[in-house]
Amino acid sequence: MKYKSTRDTGLSLESAEVISAGISKEGGLFVPEAFPSLSGKEIEEMAALSYIQKARKIIGCYLTDFSDAELSDCIEKAYTAEKFVSSSIAPLVKLSDTAYILELWHGPTCAFKDMALQLLPHLLTVSAGKVLNGKSIVILVATSGDTGKAALEGFKDVPNTKILVFYPSEGVSAMQKLQMTTQDGENVHVAAILGNFDDAQSGVKNIFTSEEIRQTLARQNQVFSSANSINWGRLVPQIVYYFSAYCDLLREKEIKAGEKINVVVPTGNFGNILAAYYAYKMGLPVHKFICASNKNNILTDFIRTGVYDKNRPFYPTCSPSMDILISSNLERLLFDLTECDEKKIKQWFGELAKTGAYEVDEFVKQKLFELFYAGFCDDEETKATIRTTFTEENYLLDTHTAVALNVYRKYMAETGDDTKSIIASTASPYKFPASVLEAVAGNQDTDDEFILAQRLSDLSGTQIPDALIHLRSAKVRFTQVVASENMVEAVKGILK
Ligand SMILES: *Cc1c(COP(=O)(O)O)cnc(C)c1O
Repeated sequence: MKYKSTRDTGLSLESAEVISAGISKEGGLFVPEAFPSLSGKEIEEMAALSYIQKARKIIGCYLTDFSDAELSDCIEKAYTAEKFVSSSIAPLVKLSDTAYILELWHGPTCAFKDMALQLLPHLLTVSAGKVLNGKSIVILVATSGDTGKAALEGFKDVPNTKILVFYPSEGVSAMQKLQMTTQDGENVHVAAILGNFDDAQSGVKNIFTSEEIRQTLARQNQVFSSANSINWGRLVPQIVYYFSAYCDLLREKEIKAGEKINVVVPTGNFGNILAAYYAYKMGLPVHKFICASNKNNILTDFIRTGVYDKNRPFYPTCSPSMDILISSNLERLLFDLTECDEKKIKQWFGELAKTGAYEVDEFVKQKLFELFYAGFCDDEETKATIRTTFTEENYLLDTHTAVALNVYRKYMAETGDDTKSIIASTASPYKFPASVLEAVAGNQDTDDEFILAQRLSDLSGTQIPDALIHLRSAKVRFTQVVASENMVEAVKGILK
């Protein structure tokens, strides 16, 4: 399998090259030149395989320049019993006759980012060994909260790597902030940005494409790479759990072989839902992709009208990992929907950079409307969904998954579609204890998140994940705060 860029289809690179580089030089994103396909029979047969075996089969279709031994080694190191609390890695919980919650947060940082970021460092190390001639890698991360911690945990003390994480100073939950500022490891660095996630993401993109920093780094025998979902090595592991969920439904006889399902995803940077779309390209039977947003509903507007317009207010919400106005991975979807038309991609994303807006053509709109449904909800609705799901179904949702369930219910009410639906559950409720407890038990007399988490545990009879309890006594190591326009200088300082 070879890879090209969404803005340069003339490229033909191996997966080791695209994983090492993260983003293409001209600013485009790497995509496979074709999608491998699995037959219905192959999907049925996969139901008998473990998660690790499924991962080997699916990821193996893409990373064809990895030997079987290299790939197996990477995957076995990632999805261990020590790191994932659930033995099935990504368990599926039946919520109602039509809705199944795919719990993707049983990894070490309690968010779905672990599904990819436990594997990426291993993929990157092998890739670097193939193509980087002994250079060491500097991983730059812009995070809306969960990627930062998951990347730090994945890359800490990985030989020949350094990792720098930037998070929006006021844009993450107290628990998320503590997770990052207390991170251990010799090769890690964390800084807060005065700005929102988009500022952090643009800053990181600027650093990536700055020739000056690139050369400074080269002199130190270092290169940049990315652990954000613009990196192909982040996306490909996410395809696996959609097949895993489908196989679980088959095994439990909830669906028949070949039966179509819906996939509902609480969306920010469009990585998770894109992985579902890629699973569909490979043969997963999907009826609709339901894209759920919070009050930052730019994707809802886009999917409903074909107009992407980021000239709008930015709202901090109780689902902070989705507080995003520039969804990077949408570029990959549009590239596919235009049937790989790099001219159109360059035109639209050029307009986005210049004016903050673009409109796709009729052909793409038609395809979007056919395959996708989009909706959003505000914080009040999010909390109401957490409350009713807890009282009526005895299931505790985090704020992001609640957005997804809320939008799913709106979809059901609007369309009457009773297709079995998988709802991607992206975080443990204990990562957002203040909002979740407020939703189920009203205002509290403290904002100490550990006390709130304990109350939530007492009330729901569920356990606080060990990884979060440990934070209580962990020492804060990182206190640096950087103005977003000073990120370049900050990075130079840190790398000296
Ligand atoms: C990152 C994240 C999302 C958004 O996922 P994308 O792949 O960026 O669309 C949703 N929920 C949680 C909890 C997250 O951490």
